[in-house]
Amino acid sequence: MRFVVLVKQVPDTTEVEVDEETGTIIREGVPSALNAFDEFALNVAVDLKEELEEEVEIIALTMGPPQADEALNKCLAIGADKAVLLTDKVFAGADTWATAVTLGRALKNIGEVDMVFAGQEASDGNTAQVGPEVAAHQGIPQVTYVAEIEEFDPDEGNIICKKETDEGHVMMKTDIPVLLACMPKPSFEPKIPNVKEIMKAKKKPTEEWGYEDLGGDEEDYGLDGSESVVMETYSPPPKGEGIKVDDKPEVAVDRLVEFLDEEGIL
Ligand SMILES: Cc1cc2nc3c(=O)[nH]c(=O)nc-3n(C[C@H](O)[C@H](O)[C@H](O)COP(=O)(O)OP(=O)(O)OC[C@H]3O[C@@H](n4cnc5c(N)ncnc54)[C@H](O)[C@@H]3O)c2cc1C
Repeated sequence: MRFVVLVKQVPDTTEVEVDEETGTIIREGVPSALNAFDEFALNVAVDLKEELEEEVEIIALTMGPPQADEALNKCLAIGADKAVLLTDKVFAGADTWATAVTLGRALKNIGEVDMVFAGQEASDGNTAQVGPEVAAHQGIPQVTYVAEIEEFDPDEGNIICKKETDEGHVMMKTDIPVLLACMPKPSFEPKIPNVKEIMKAKKKPTEEWGYEDLGGDEEDYGLDGSESVVMETYSPPPKGEGIKVDDKPEVAVDRLVEFLDEEGIL
């Protein structure tokens, strides 16, 4: 069996700069980390592999600048067997659809895939669009907000997973291949690779693919392949000094009503 985990390297800081021309984040040289939702998705894939008797290959797949290989090295230490880095100037500035097309074509290149795992969202763009878009590109079902896998029956070719909802959770049953967009549970404890696993990871294969490896038209990728255009980016104006009211409640309430009245809110 083959599982592919879509992982994104995200800025590990709030001090990010935006390219004024393209409106996209400048990622080169910025302290970065493996997106937490994707680390959870990888843990779910590794746990499922450990439960199964049959052979399972886990591939960690990312689209990003060359430095994104650091995030892949962490995935190999956590338990991925192989990593693929999609990096090419042609891919730069991609919106979510262009990102999904790039990842989708890489999945076609990889060949037969039984399960695709993604994070529910990335901590920088936060659109939560790429997972479902990759499923649409592949023509496979998807389940979002997946907290855990209840049952997996490779012989019957189906899976039951627990999906978080505003009211609690629902059990979703679907055929495989399927894409699961995973949502970490509050109790989630990420696997901390030990030195032996980190050393072993260095011997595991990482492939680097560019536009030539995926084919199609250059216009399908990056900024050219993006349907959505960033019109303007700006940092929100800094919030003014707040007003602290630490009087006794009965006094504080009057002060608050007075303030809201003065501000014309009441
Ligand atoms: C502040 C901000 C706002 C943006 N707004 C928009 C917007 O409104 N519309 C738009 O189209 N684009 C937008 N973008 C661009 C968008 O961030 C990129 O297209 C990005 O590559 C994917 O979207 P996301 O970060 O929202 O990921 P999400 O859709 O939140 O990611 C969900 C999951 O998809 C997988 N994934 C996402 N990106 C990658 C990757 N590069 N490699 C491998 N797996 C991946 C991961 O498993 C991730 O957990 C925005 C970017 C920023 C920084």
